[in-house]
Amino acid sequence: MKVLVTGGAGYIGSVATEELIRAGHDVVVFDNLSQGHRAAVHPQAKLVVGDLADIQAIHALFNEHKPEAVMHFAARSLVGESMQTPFLYLGENVTNGSNLLQVVLEHGVKRFILSSTANLFDNPAKIPIDETVQIIPGSPYGESKFFIERMLYWLDKTHGLRSACLRYFNAAGATAERGEDHNPETHLIPVALQVAQGKREKVTVFGSDYPTRDGTCVRDYIHVVDLAQAHILALEALHKGSRTYNLGNGAGFSVKEVIETARSITGQDIRAEYGPRRGGDVATLVAGSDKIRKELGWKPIRTDVRSIIQSAWKWHSKNPQGYSDR
Ligand code: UDP
Repeated sequence: MKVLVTGGAGYIGSVATEELIRAGHDVVVFDNLSQGHRAAVHPQAKLVVGDLADIQAIHALFNEHKPEAVMHFAARSLVGESMQTPFLYLGENVTNGSNLLQVVLEHGVKRFILSSTANLFDNPAKIPIDETVQIIPGSPYGESKFFIERMLYWLDKTHGLRSACLRYFNAAGATAERGEDHNPETHLIPVALQVAQGKREKVTVFGSDYPTRDGTCVRDYIHVVDLAQAHILALEALHKGSRTYNLGNGAGFSVKEVIETARSITGQDIRAEYGPRRGGDVATLVAGSDKIRKELGWKPIRTDVRSIIQSAWKWHSKNPQGYSDR
């Protein structure tokens, strides 16, 4: 199938592209390279540099490449940033998603996969969080993804656009070729590994007074290849109807535990200090993923946080300057 991957030069999008190509699909990547890297795009994928704010550029992309399905990763995705500059999210993320969907409808594309988030579940009534838990976005970032989920709900009803909303918990880890390289880096695992590499002095733990076992936030870390596999399974099942899945391993690790594991893997004394809470963070986010396991037979392979961090460390050790090494 010919698949358009927006944000395919970014962390998760580039790994999804790699897995799509491995599964025999043709991929066109559309990315403005604001966070993504040219070197992250699989050599067999076609890269078109452009911005989803430019609806004419999206039309031209569809006219030229005629995708049969879309995987939409391109978006701003930082909870903390969204609390400080909400309109990058409530404005830009939502408008860009709506531009893309207008073009999808006009060109008659019927398959769409959305990269959604666990930040839809602020203060969840139960853990693990399955798809029945009430949606209360935790930040403007989560809200921006929810808006697009709602657009997809209506476009299914009005135009038969079949979609899958995949709500990821915390993507982490790397393949041999592709890993996490943001500038600035804000995610816990790469930040801790940068301290181990001597590229940063310390990691600040955002809050130590949460109602969790050690006072720090608990997250469900999922390997990026397992996430990518879920996208491919969802794509193959779309003809049977639209669907929504929460994606995680079902086990939570605290910020302290992640840093401790990173210390043990790297053999470095990663300096950590306690700071205030980061706006928009939820105490515990652990996924209930039974639905996708049952319906699509999804089975994550790299389930323990140690092997996930190990794969990230391998990539960071091989690419100490990230993609700029290439
Ligand atoms: N975190 C932290 N220090 C950092 C980066 C993150 O304490 O330098 C915490 C953050 O508050 C959250 C968890 O680590 O509780 C995971 O954050 P990350 O930004 O990696 O992913 P998110 O949960 O925002 O998707």
